[in-house]
Amino acid sequence: MCFNTYIQHIKAEKYRQFGFSLQLLNPIHWFQFADDAAVIIGQESENQHLLNRFSICCQWSNMVVRVDKCSTFGIKKVLSKSAQYLPKLLIKKDLIPTIKTGESFEYLGRHFDFSMTNEKHKCKLISLIDELMSEIDLKPLHPKNKILLYSRYVLSKLSWHLTVATISKTWVVENIDSPVNKYVRKWLEVPISGTLSNIFLTRNKFGLNIIPASVKFIQCQTVLRNALKTSSNDSINELWKSTNNHTNIQYDSYNSTKEVLKTFHSQQENKLRDRLKCQGSFFENISKFSLSQLNAIWSVSQSKLPKNIFNFTIRYMNNTLPTRKNLSRWGISSSSDCSFCLHPESLLHVVAGCQHYLERFTWRHDCILKFLAKTFQSLNECKLLVDLPGFESPSIITGDEYRPDLLVSSSDKHLYVIELTVGFESNLTNNVNRKKAKYKNLIGELDQNFTSVKFINLSVSSLGVFDKECHTFVKMLNELGLDNQHQQYCIRKMISIAIRSTYYIFCCRNKEWTNTELMNI
Ligand SMILES: [Zn+2]
Repeated sequence: MCFNTYIQHIKAEKYRQFGFSLQLLNPIHWFQFADDAAVIIGQESENQHLLNRFSICCQWSNMVVRVDKCSTFGIKKVLSKSAQYLPKLLIKKDLIPTIKTGESFEYLGRHFDFSMTNEKHKCKLISLIDELMSEIDLKPLHPKNKILLYSRYVLSKLSWHLTVATISKTWVVENIDSPVNKYVRKWLEVPISGTLSNIFLTRNKFGLNIIPASVKFIQCQTVLRNALKTSSNDSINELWKSTNNHTNIQYDSYNSTKEVLKTFHSQQENKLRDRLKCQGSFFENISKFSLSQLNAIWSVSQSKLPKNIFNFTIRYMNNTLPTRKNLSRWGISSSSDCSFCLHPESLLHVVAGCQHYLERFTWRHDCILKFLAKTFQSLNECKLLVDLPGFESPSIITGDEYRPDLLVSSSDKHLYVIELTVGFESNLTNNVNRKKAKYKNLIGELDQNFTSVKFINLSVSSLGVFDKECHTFVKMLNELGLDNQHQQYCIRKMISIAIRSTYYIFCCRNKEWTNTELMNI
């Protein structure tokens, strides 16, 4: 700052008489940032002249110039071409080290070389990313925390480089995104054939909310271009205008970093919807059927799972679990059929379809039901009937023809009829409609004996996603007096039980089922 003022002063007319003859020093650029300075000048002799003044000023203000840390970089015209040369500039009789031909120097984190290749900067970025990612890889951390380190630490370490270096998006995709993706796949155990689009989505769309470095790069460039565009300095605005071309057009089209993110997310969604039918089916189903107000709770529940089950959810979503259908597609297994029923063993077949696994699916259903029963048991002044051993049977009220899963009646004769269905994501709404039709008559009949009868059509997916219709369930929790925190706890637990039991069912595929004890968590 002092020096900028000093330079402005000695350039002024009135100081010429003291010998600061600078009228020939054109163009003269002096960049000072904290204790770093860069001087750009047309003639070597003028530069020496200015450096002498600089030394005097430093001496006067008791600042020491470390000549060994300085460097000079020269370009001059040789015939009609520009060429790099080695300037001879001195500070107090010491020769300032010169940047050799073809090499680069670094100023404020940016590398400059004669051909403006940024090669040095690119090498530095590649080794930086390699160093950071391999260090995270070695840490004994849960994959979600490794990913958190990438998002919070690695990306912020990169952001200055991605702002100042002249590199292209393609270069970032090839040289930074691809090693990062390799580690992310390793941590989440996603095979090379599996898409990462699901995890790039936001949490309320069942993603992990991470972005590739190339998206961070576009954000950095957007910030930089916006700073030029909106600067109060006219020359900087001119600079923006004169460079509003070529690759800059793609950065100038964004007004904010949020817009960059929005575009990225919608690209991933379109990819899942239109191009990846098989891997995108989970996303397609939950976008259509899920009760979106509970999606954030799902994400919290997922984040609390141990590593193996956490990774199971990721591979479930992009359909890359080792079912026999996938194994045969990958050329690992010769047969794609279920060993019990000889139908193709798809994910749906293992977790919700096989007719030989009905006992397992009932077990999962009952695990969730038991948790619900326990939750309602703690409520005062309510009568509880549950279709589980150890509880009074709902058939006491409904008769034997219909047996819903759970009945809760309050002291003032309000009755809740709860029917729980656990099925595959694609069947969430089918199950709602099927159960609605099934219990229509019963609800009508019961209505005569109670003040009110509410049918709670609780359709949950095998990965713990709630159907839209479950808003009645949330309403019921409210009416039964559960506070917000207790409601969230209850839903989080139900999601967790669904995921854990589905994981167990998946692990037991093609094996005999011996488990009958209901899960207690
Ligand atoms: Zn089967």
